[in-house]
Amino acid sequence: MEQLRASIRTVPDFPKPGIQFRDITTLLADPAALSTSVSLLADHVRASGADAVAGMEARGFIFGAAVAIRAGLGFVPIRKPGKLPVETVGVEYDLEYGTDRLELDPSGLRDGMRVALVDDLIATGGTALAAAKLVQQCSCEVSTAAFVIDLPDLGGADRLRGSGIDVKTLVSFE
Ligand code: IMP
Repeated sequence: MEQLRASIRTVPDFPKPGIQFRDITTLLADPAALSTSVSLLADHVRASGADAVAGMEARGFIFGAAVAIRAGLGFVPIRKPGKLPVETVGVEYDLEYGTDRLELDPSGLRDGMRVALVDDLIATGGTALAAAKLVQQCSCEVSTAAFVIDLPDLGGADRLRGSGIDVKTLVSFE
């Protein structure tokens, strides 16, 4: 796990002064770190009994799709607004750096499916809680929410667990 942690770059003062941005670009370029992170997340997703993986745009697409392939599951993209060509379900949410909206095309899901959420990082948990709401609006259940990075000081993992969602994270940055 130290190797995984060492592969993540910290960029100070991005996107605003005072923010320490945890940047996965360096992890993605490191074959061992990429493979380790995807297999650990996929093991957990499989064990959660998921029937599908959903990933949040944009970095959640990278890990989510890789995890889905590794776990033998399909992938459902959770998108920024206005990108999908069909009728969507949508939800507004608070970000660490402002507010936004997520949308999902429900045609990849069926009632009662267990969906694993995958993203690169959990901070306040606003994005993941919004994604969970979308999944629930589609009459599906969240089997787990799995992230490479946790920022525990921002309390997102605790917020999710408080809402009854199982959470898995690989490395923490205090
Ligand atoms: P949350 O909604 O506050 O939990 O923020 C998580 C979302 O913001 C994820 O989709 C992350 O990709 C992004 N994010 C927040 N902080 C960082 C960071 O330090 N590095 C990379 N992504 C971040």
